[in-house]
Amino acid sequence: MKASASTAAAATSPTCSLSYIHPEADSPWLTYLAQVDRVLPHLGHLARWGETLKRPKRALIVDVPIEMDDGSVRHFEGYRVQHNLSRGPGKGGVRYHPNVTLEEVMALSAWMTIKNAAVGLPYGGAKGGIRVTPSELSHKELERLTRRYTSEIGIIIGPQQDIPAPDVNTNGQIMAWMMDTYSMNVGATATGVVTGKPIPLGGSLGRVKATGRGVFVTGREALRRLGHEIKGLRIAVQGFGNVGGTAAELFAATGAHIVAVQDHTGTIIEEKGLDIGALQAHVERHGGVAGFPGAQSARNEDFWEVRCDVLIPAALEGQLTAERARKTTAKVILEGANGPTLPAADDVFASRGILVVPDVICNAGGVTVSYFEWVQDFSSFFWDEDDINARLDKILGNAFARIWDTSEQLKISLRTAAFAVACERVLQAREERGLYP
Ligand code: GLU
Repeated sequence: MKASASTAAAATSPTCSLSYIHPEADSPWLTYLAQVDRVLPHLGHLARWGETLKRPKRALIVDVPIEMDDGSVRHFEGYRVQHNLSRGPGKGGVRYHPNVTLEEVMALSAWMTIKNAAVGLPYGGAKGGIRVTPSELSHKELERLTRRYTSEIGIIIGPQQDIPAPDVNTNGQIMAWMMDTYSMNVGATATGVVTGKPIPLGGSLGRVKATGRGVFVTGREALRRLGHEIKGLRIAVQGFGNVGGTAAELFAATGAHIVAVQDHTGTIIEEKGLDIGALQAHVERHGGVAGFPGAQSARNEDFWEVRCDVLIPAALEGQLTAERARKTTAKVILEGANGPTLPAADDVFASRGILVVPDVICNAGGVTVSYFEWVQDFSSFFWDEDDINARLDKILGNAFARIWDTSEQLKISLRTAAFAVACERVLQAREERGLYP
């Protein structure tokens, strides 16, 4: 990796040269392209292959028709994008959300390429999604949707080709249906085709909490280097699902105060720190944090101004705008979500001396334990949870250290350093494999 004469942020916003998407300002694909532009000056001779990073290798769009419970037929848009396969099979989740687009799935698949390489997992990057509001579907409709989608993308997934996993609004049950559908189609049980499965179907202990645990581990490493103790820290969390909820639980168990939580149902604030166990029980019963009796409710925009030391965006992309980045009192941002920070907000954080632990390392705990699950499925030998958590801690700790050192050495942000480590690995593989034919 090279130190560049211009370590300043790329001044111009990137343009997308692909004819099949038309990204709008601040869209996830443009955010990703801007992040790539910032790393290219540090890649030396490998920058020659930089264009590889700016276009997905393969993007599949599928029609997913299903019969609804009332006998009508509805069609949904489904996607599976394999951004890069230079270092191994595709790997990345499947998202069910009404705002899913090809362009969003492309960006998410590209971040998987970077994430897997930054941690050193033997995978390329992929992602899938269906444009659907899953809460409007019955259990049976959801099953039909999942099975038809799996059959449609069955031509490009497989234990050695591309391995889906849970993401926003998908879970172990959906992975079980995906595994079963793929297995029925190939005529043999193929547990290794998806990760995040229920334990009796070849799932791994520790997988459900792994992403949130990774946020805690990388956050702990960052805070230690900055000389902050976790005990007594004030933390605000956006998103209280699998990622935000677990991260909040682990930080609270270590003595931090979770002072604000926002999710799709509302924003709650408690200066003295929320009772996370009670909040989890409330969310379980009511589907969101709104109305939690142990806190005051607040306006959504007030969340960004709440007095805190650490901010954990653990919901969707593009949440941290430049304006919100100027408002926050946090000194450290832990990106539990994929792509929560816009490039303009990154610049504000840099100028204010706020440390951002980027998504591609901060939320990599999920895919790391997915990797453990895949390995366990192949060997049919299953590890205990302490072993899994210890391995996760070690792998993420080492990956974080490498990125931190790169950032100090080249005087670049942790995000650009993570991209530098990852892109060097991806493009090195690209170069050594050579162009076919
Ligand atoms: N969806 C998760 C992510 O964004 C996990 C992907 C996986 O386990 O393959 O990292």
